[in-house]
This record gives sequence, structure tokens and C-alpha cells, in this order.
Amino acid sequence: MPVYKAPVEDVMFLLNDVFLIERHNNLPGFADATPDVVEAILKEGAKLCEEVFAPLNRTGDLDGCTRNPDGSVTTPKGFKEAYEAYTAGGWMGLSVPEEFGGQGLPSVLNTIMQEFVSSANLALGMYPGLTQGAIAALLVHGTEEQKHTYLPKMVEGTWTGTMNLTEPHCGTDLGLLKTKAVPNGDGSYAISGTKIFISAGEHDMADNIVHLVLARIEGAPGGTKGISLFVVPKFLVNADGSLGERNGVACGSLEHKMGIHGNATCVMNYDGAKGWLVGQENRGLNAMFVMMNEARLAVGVQGLSQSEVAYQNAVAYAKDRLQGRSLTGPKFPDRPADPIIVHPDVRRTLLSVKSFNEAARALIVWTGLNSDIAHRSSDEAQRQIAEDYMGLMTPVVKGVLTDLGFENAVKAQQVFGGHGYIEEWGMSQFVRDARITMIYEGANGIQAMDLVGRKLGKDGGRAIMSFFNEVGAFCQDNANDENLRGFVAPLQQGLGHLQQATMWFMQNAMARPDNAGAGATDYMHLFGTVAMGYMWAKMAKAADARKAEGNGIAAKMDAKLMTGRFFMERMMPETGVRLARITSGADVTMAMPVEAF
Ligand SMILES: Cc1cc2nc3c(=O)[nH]c(=O)nc-3n(C[C@H](O)[C@H](O)[C@H](O)COP(=O)(O)OP(=O)(O)OC[C@H]3O[C@@H](n4cnc5c(N)ncnc54)[C@H](O)[C@@H]3O)c2cc1C
Repeated sequence: MPVYKAPVEDVMFLLNDVFLIERHNNLPGFADATPDVVEAILKEGAKLCEEVFAPLNRTGDLDGCTRNPDGSVTTPKGFKEAYEAYTAGGWMGLSVPEEFGGQGLPSVLNTIMQEFVSSANLALGMYPGLTQGAIAALLVHGTEEQKHTYLPKMVEGTWTGTMNLTEPHCGTDLGLLKTKAVPNGDGSYAISGTKIFISAGEHDMADNIVHLVLARIEGAPGGTKGISLFVVPKFLVNADGSLGERNGVACGSLEHKMGIHGNATCVMNYDGAKGWLVGQENRGLNAMFVMMNEARLAVGVQGLSQSEVAYQNAVAYAKDRLQGRSLTGPKFPDRPADPIIVHPDVRRTLLSVKSFNEAARALIVWTGLNSDIAHRSSDEAQRQIAEDYMGLMTPVVKGVLTDLGFENAVKAQQVFGGHGYIEEWGMSQFVRDARITMIYEGANGIQAMDLVGRKLGKDGGRAIMSFFNEVGAFCQDNANDENLRGFVAPLQQGLGHLQQATMWFMQNAMARPDNAGAGATDYMHLFGTVAMGYMWAKMAKAADARKAEGNGIAAKMDAKLMTGRFFMERMMPETGVRLARITSGADVTMAMPVEAF
């Protein structure tokens, strides 16, 4: 059975030593989150994930979800009880305002908990995950009545949420959307159409399911400008908040898929279902973007989560499996062979995953803190910087962390040799489950296009310039620190490559958009590598400072610094390759006639 231990200590190092969370005590909710309180909360969350969620991961994969003849869906054995333990612990509302039953704590804590939950059981974690996304959208765009009708129940966890965008003919290109909304004359709309691939669309964990649905109001313009967002509950809600009659929405079937078997992926049929407009007419995409941005970050976290849990299991196996002898002579002469962790190639594999995991976690915590600043700061200038940062980082976190999350799950599987391919070891599930993260919430090619096509040039390039300035200033300030030499120089070089690539797009992509399209994925990864290199440089500085404390912490900080050096030596050089690919342009890519493929 695969193992999982939530990385609470690593997170505490990030919050307290790298990002100095106490600096943000002026933000609402932060003063309550003292280091002791945060540690206690995360340890409690870790326990739930390790003891309740993780043991159900493999059984959930084997059981899958079942659609019953009456259209109801049964989730794997134990999921309902585990979900109840999650909601009873108050995890759903950890960072939701107290007004709606939440605890109002920093949302970065919720993001951290999402990593633990997803590592322990990705499929199960998606039920509360989608609910939290729907809560976020209703908080921003719902009317007061909608907020008070739905949010307390969703925060309590007795009602869950979904997002309904995709239709059979319309995935990336939402402008093709056909689901229609006809005014009923009483302020509600009759929603009709078919949505596919709807995660958690139907299940047995909650009394009600609150669907957020994109549809086109009769007579609205075609394309993305005529799309509106509606809230459509599975059961209508009476004036006193109790549940009324069943609404005209049902699960038509379940998809049979490669992974996340414990999550119900539903075809949802809307047949004149009663729905209410959320936000303004024809501005539905704008409203849904709150949920999509939340979900994109959460999916990036899912990518890391699978890399982390796969890594932990690969390390345990590598210490245990005896094969061959060390190149420098036996390390365990009393045994028939050495454990495979003595082999440089196995160590290279493990360190490439470990050095990604720790940098990706730092990037997520940094992004989570910026999300809190963007939503909670009363200082407009500070809010704007944080919002710029979020816009820039959302596609990077989603695209890079999931591409590499999957790649790393495969690397960790490789450590098991043939046993990694056998289902009972659990490594195959991590690979299968990680694969979806590259696809849903906007396939990663689309994330790359969002970064290059929309985010780089936004507000005259203000966001990217501020990123360049921040990383450049760090390099300058620490250029003479002997202890950081192995970090600052490669970071500076990577930053230079990113700046050259950005300049190349400015000079070559305006007149020829294909140059942007053909280089976008490489640019997103170049950006991700530099951002993670920056995280490593910041972590190295903090680790170096803490080493002096002695008391057993020095060995941990040494390991941190070694992991960081591995990243700088082995991962950062990729920035040069990415730059070369980007500046080769789109000529060959686009010259190939369609019939020659
Ligand atoms: C298990 C699962 C769960 C899901 N959960 C949900 C959910 O809860 N709610 C929901 O609404 N949807 C959900 N989805 C749908 C998911 O978000 C879509 O599958 C995804 O957005 C891609 O859409 P598509 O499958 O139609 O692919 P397409 O849009 O057909 O894209 C196919 C390929 O073409 C590329 N491509 C398309 N257009 C462009 C372009 N303009 N430029 C460059 N490349 C392009 C894409 O990157 C992709 O690689 C889920 C899907 C799955 C499989």
C-alpha cells in the first residue's frame, strides 16, 4: 500500500523563514494565524489526509463510481464518511469569511491543505475542491440573496458545488456554447442543454448540489460575448432554506476514464431546469473566471501533489530494493546487494523530483500569499502588484506544475522498475491520476497561449516588468554573498534568457502571431524554471541563515541547500534550450502542409 506523509515541516519553513508570513499581520485573518496556530492547524489537516483520505486512494481507484438506474451516483466505499470528516473539521470554510460560516483564515492555508488532500486522494479531494471554487465565484458575483441562500450550506459541506462549461462540441472554444436560457418571467430562467465531463456533477455525499452553469440567454449575441452564468440547484430551495422539489437536471451517464476513478465525471442533462442569473447578463465568462482562476491554481497544486506522493513512495522503495552494487564498492557488504538508492542514476531521478517539489511548493505558497494580498489588502498599490502577479502566475502554476507533476510521477514510477507497472504498488495510479491535470481547466497549450498572448502585454507589460525587477534586484543584492554563489549566477543567467525570449516575442510575434503560438509552451516552461530558480535562491538564503542555529536544524538546512544546488546545476540550464527553441520561430512548424502530417 502506498505511503503518504504531509510535508508540514517544509511548509512551516516556507511560511516562517522564506516568506515571513508575520509581515502580513495587517491583513484580515492573518493576525489570528500565529506560527503556533498555523502549525497546529496543518498538523490536524495532515492527520486527516494521512489517516482518512490516503487509505481510500487505491480502493477508490478500484471501486470507481456507479450510476444507478434512477440516475443517482454512488461514490466508492468510505468516500462519504471521509468527506463528512473533512466537513466536520471545518476545512471547507477555512478561509471563507466568518459571515458565511467560515473561519476567515488566510487562503494560503487552504491552498496548502489542498496539496495535502490531493496527494492523499486526488479523486476524493475534488468534491470539496470544486465546492470551494463555486463558493469563491458566488462570493464575488452572487447577489446578497444568492450568497445567503447557498453559501452557509456549501461552507458547512451539506451542499456541494460544480462548474458546468464543457459541451460535446465546445471545450476550449466556449464561444460555440449552445446551452440556452429562456426567461420564465419571474426572475428565473429555464436552462436546457447538455454539459459533459462535469466533475462531481452527481454523487451521494451531499443533500444538494449547486451547479454553476454557462448558458446563452435567448436572443443573446453569438460567441463569447453572449454567455451568462446561472446558479442551478439540484433541489430547488424554499424560502425558509429547506429543500423543495427536484430541479430539471440529471446525470445522464458517467465517463469511463484513465484515472481519478473515485470522482464522478458526469454528462449532465438540463431540461428546462430552473436557474438564476449570477452577475450580469452576457458577462458570464467574466463571472466564471473567478472560479476558473481558483480552479487553475488548485489544479497546479494537484500536479505538485502527485509528484510529491509518487516521490515519497519512490524514496521508500529505493531504500529497500536491493539490486547491484555501488560503482564505488559495496555500501552494504553484509547484504546480497546494495539498495538501489546508491546508484547515481536513481539519485538523479529522485533529486530531480525532490528539487521540483520543494520549489513548486514555494511557488504555490508565494502565489497563495499574493492571492491573500490581492483579496484582502486595503492598500491599492499593494493590491495591484499582487493582482498583476496572480494574472501572470496562474497559467504558469497550472501549466508547468501539471506538465512536470505528470513527468515526475512517471520518473518515480521508473524507480520501481517493472513493479511500477503493476497496479498493486500504486505508482500506476499516480501516473494515471496526474495525467488529467494537464488537460482540464484549460489544456496546457491554452495556458501557454494565455501567458504569451494575454498576460505578457497586459497593461503595457507591467506585470512581467515587475517580475523582472524583483528577481533582478534579488540577484544584485546577493551578488557578493559567497554562500549564495551557486544560486545567484545561474538565476541571473536564466533571467537573462527569459528577458531575451520576451524581447524576441515583442519584436517577432506582433506581425506574425504564429511565432507566439509556436513558442508559447517553451516560454511557459522557461518562465516556470526561472520562477522556481528564484524560489530556490530565496530558500537557500533562508536555509543558510538558519544553519547557524545548530540543534539538528543544520543537517536539514544542508539537505535543503544540496537539493537547491541540484536544481541550479541540473534544471536551470534548460532555460538556454527553451530560448533556442523559441527564437527558431514558427517557419518550419507552419510550413508543413496538412496532408504531409
Ligand atoms: C476528467 C475530466 C473532468 C473534467 N471536469 C470538468 C468540469 O468539472 N467542468 C467542465 O466544464 N469541464 C470539465 N472538463 C472538461 C475540460 O476542461 C476540457 O476537456 C478541456 O478544457 C479541453 O476541452 P476539449 O476536451 O474539448 O478539447 P479541445 O478544446 O477540443 O482541444 C483539443 C486540443 O487542441 C488544443 N487547442 C484547442 N484550441 C486551441 C487553440 N486555439 N490554440 C492552440 N491549441 C488549441 C488544446 O490545447 C487540446 O490539446 C473535464 C474533463 C475531463 C476529461
